[in-house]
Amino acid sequence: MKRIVSQNILNFVLILFLFLSYQIYAEDNFQGFVVCIDPGHQGQANDSQEPIGPGSATTKPCVSSGTSGAVAGPENIVVLDIGLRLHDILIKKGITVVMTHTTPNINMCNSERAAVGNRCKANLSIRLHCDAGSEHGCFTLYPALIENWTDDIYAESFKAAKIVQEAYATYTGIPDQGELPRSDLSGFNWSDVPVILPEMLHMQNSSDDQKISTPEFRQTMAQGLANGILDYLKTLPPPKGKSSSIITK
Ligand SMILES: [Zn+2]
Repeated sequence: MKRIVSQNILNFVLILFLFLSYQIYAEDNFQGFVVCIDPGHQGQANDSQEPIGPGSATTKPCVSSGTSGAVAGPENIVVLDIGLRLHDILIKKGITVVMTHTTPNINMCNSERAAVGNRCKANLSIRLHCDAGSEHGCFTLYPALIENWTDDIYAESFKAAKIVQEAYATYTGIPDQGELPRSDLSGFNWSDVPVILPEMLHMQNSSDDQKISTPEFRQTMAQGLANGILDYLKTLPPPKGKSSSIITK
């Protein structure tokens, strides 16, 4: 009798262990989700003009050169490094991550960067930037509501902006300056998938310039963004095929 009872307890503990392991795995598995990372700017600006949205008569330079920090250096190099760190964190969660570029020597208009996110049907496109200026703070841009351009991605973009901004500001300790809609960004107006643009800090703020020059803080920034992206993906329905891949793996 005693042996049967202890065997039952053992079975119960085993089933509980398997159940909890499955729960933890399911919670932590983002297989089937796609995130597009666009590190902002490039080595050389390209001033050739492009329409700010499909069919628009208003144009803007293809891609600007960005700002720089006295210690950290050019924005495009810094955000590319953070983008690669973010890539590494997200792929460990099972997410398919598509980078618009992985080296600084490229020539890609903002509309082309949006097209990368469109082609891979990203659940979220994230454009990484730092702002000019000496303020101590971070904020996230999202597409303003424009009929036929952003009306299909507005709500999800705004939701993602709020979630990522909060997670990033909390994790990095950089003061939260909130979210801001923009109607003039080609990289938003050409996007067919939810898209956000965190301005992760201001590069002429001397203490933030110092911080962002270190690999440790860049990793912290990438982790803060990743936390927000994971929180956002958790609000979405599971991608097709995800459930079966959990069971068979
Ligand atoms: Zn920028």
